[in-house]
Amino acid sequence: MRLKNVPGSREMIAESEYTVSNPEQWKGNWHSLFENNHPIRIEIGTGKGKFIHELAMRHPEVNFIGIEKYSSVLIRAVEKQEQNPLPNLLFVRMDAEYITDVFGENETDRIYLNFSDPWPKDRHAKRRLTSREYLSRYRILLPAGGCIEFKTDNTDLFSFSLEEIALSGWTLLACTHDLHGDEELNRDNIMTEYEEKFSAKGNPICKLIAQVP
Ligand code: SAM
Repeated sequence: MRLKNVPGSREMIAESEYTVSNPEQWKGNWHSLFENNHPIRIEIGTGKGKFIHELAMRHPEVNFIGIEKYSSVLIRAVEKQEQNPLPNLLFVRMDAEYITDVFGENETDRIYLNFSDPWPKDRHAKRRLTSREYLSRYRILLPAGGCIEFKTDNTDLFSFSLEEIALSGWTLLACTHDLHGDEELNRDNIMTEYEEKFSAKGNPICKLIAQVP
């Protein structure tokens, strides 16, 4: 994705009350930061935050954490939260590669991956957020029965993800190659920024839900 540098965004994020700048310190203890025992759900690669902000608004009974690698993108999600603050939504600027340093065993029951970067070269397969390497990290964070939900318009990445899920012994609970045409799966769908962009171009959206065995 093309990234426009936003001067000062790193500092603004570090200072925002809606971002957690020392996330490793909360490993195993995120509930105390939210001051409740509600379930914790994470979006990795949150981008400008439309999806997670809307999801958090719809579900005040759940805590949400948006993870994003780049300050220049995350700043837009933080701005949304500043305009309309939700007590059940926080952000972390980090690379998800280190997610097991930040969240403890069984600390989240659902992970959302929306329009993750495809990393098309074979030698970069490990960097895809649905690779077996990432699935094994998520497995530590999720209890038995915990899920990932993944949406993309990239059919190669979707096929790869289905293979990795099967190879890793996860159970496929739902799968569609046309989310917007699937009445059941689309019912509570929240469109992400990329989803709006790509579906407006006519690209069908794929979605899967996979569960830790
Ligand atoms: N989820 C948003 C959407 O659907 O509109 C943004 C999709 S964009 C293609 C992918 C986002 O994931 C980018 O903002 C990128 O910086 C972020 N990202 C990619 N790899 C990441 C990683 N390893 N850790 C955290 N964020 C990552």
